[in-house]
Amino acid sequence: MKVTVDADTCTGCELCTDAVPDVFAMEGSVAKAKADVVPAGQEDAVKDAAGNCPVEAIKTEE
Ligand code: SF4
Repeated sequence: MKVTVDADTCTGCELCTDAVPDVFAMEGSVAKAKADVVPAGQEDAVKDAAGNCPVEAIKTEE
């Protein structure tokens, strides 16, 4: 599964970086996916983070 963060939409609330620090990190005032491909075992957590992002800035692709 692939994941990206839309930097133009992200508000920098840090919800995803707190929830899944192995995948998301803050870069300046916005979150960024540390790698394009989600590591095995993190996929459900990333899907939850995408669902919980208040501005729907996290996009996943199978
Ligand atoms: S949860 Fe959404 S708005 Fe908040 S830091 Fe992550 S991508 Fe940005």
